[in-house]
Amino acid sequence: MEHFKVLHNDKETAARAAVVKTNRGLVHTPVFMPVATQGTVKAVSQRDLAEIGAECLLSNTYHLYLRPGLPTLEKFGGLNGFMNHPGPVLTDSGGFQVYSLSRLRKITDNGVHFSSHIDGSPHFFTPEKVIDYQASIGSSIWTCLDVCVKNPASREDAMDALKKTKHWAERAKAHFIEKTRHMDPAKRPLLFGIVQGSIYTDLRAEAARHMAELDMDGFAVGGLSVGESKAQMMESLAAVMENLPKNKPVYFMGLGTPDDIWNSVELGVDMFDCVLPTRNARNGQALTSRGKMYVKNAPYKNDDSPLDPDCDCICCRNYSKGYLSHLFKSKELLVSQLLSIHNLRFLINQTKIMRLAAAAGTFKQAKKAFMDAYQKE
Ligand SMILES: [Zn+2]
Repeated sequence: MEHFKVLHNDKETAARAAVVKTNRGLVHTPVFMPVATQGTVKAVSQRDLAEIGAECLLSNTYHLYLRPGLPTLEKFGGLNGFMNHPGPVLTDSGGFQVYSLSRLRKITDNGVHFSSHIDGSPHFFTPEKVIDYQASIGSSIWTCLDVCVKNPASREDAMDALKKTKHWAERAKAHFIEKTRHMDPAKRPLLFGIVQGSIYTDLRAEAARHMAELDMDGFAVGGLSVGESKAQMMESLAAVMENLPKNKPVYFMGLGTPDDIWNSVELGVDMFDCVLPTRNARNGQALTSRGKMYVKNAPYKNDDSPLDPDCDCICCRNYSKGYLSHLFKSKELLVSQLLSIHNLRFLINQTKIMRLAAAAGTFKQAKKAFMDAYQKE
């Protein structure tokens, strides 16, 4: 199955418009994927997700394995049936959550022992088991189990984590091939390898070359945007991008600020996800083409204009800043829903603008126009 097609390359930058073909439909890139960690995009219904044009969702093996549990998902025909979502879902392997949420974590060469953050029960993930779990979830894009390190990490710790991540990716790939051998090619999920290496550019380059050799269907860049400086992040990303083939999709895990997404697409990254647009929405923060906005701020009390005059979402079409400000101060639930829809639509629209600009060969001008307006206020 030819699962990735570059439709247009920008003239001056590495930005590109492409399409990822999954077993549940096409994903046009650059793409922003709303996060549905618990099998729901927080405060956003399936109908709203369809309306804002969400082509792919992000979910998580660690969380779904612990709750509701894989037997439940299997009973409902996988996550898509359970949450009544027809489109593709990408699942993170859970390496980051084992690292960040669970207690009593112990990593061996074979896998990782950990205690559930919910009830303390003991569990053991291996690269092979995580492939099997994603088969039970039924997601369209799977990822290999990786080892995450804290930031900042010593070079020694980063090297050790990278060594294990590489070995585990080899095992995951071998098991994936075995598991999907008899599938109809059109039904086969895709497998992405995760590129680690902390902020060490030589380790990042080595990790990227190794994942390229393993002939993964795509590449996920993990362990960035976790507290390092912007310069370190972009240098590490550049080292990765220089060493990945151009004929596969690249996904930057957990990156959700519009300016960072523009800068990453310029280097050739195709896919993004982040919890921030919906989390910040619940805290009253809106992303707009004129910068970030806090709806509770005093100047908006009697403002009858929409959040973002350039946005076509249900929130901006129907409600004023003054009303949203009132809802937020009154702690009304509707404001979380409306701002979540708006923030997601804003980022999805941004990636569409990037796609069109890459196709027109005008990415640099489009990025400058965005940055000028976004950073003005
Ligand atoms: Zn809007």
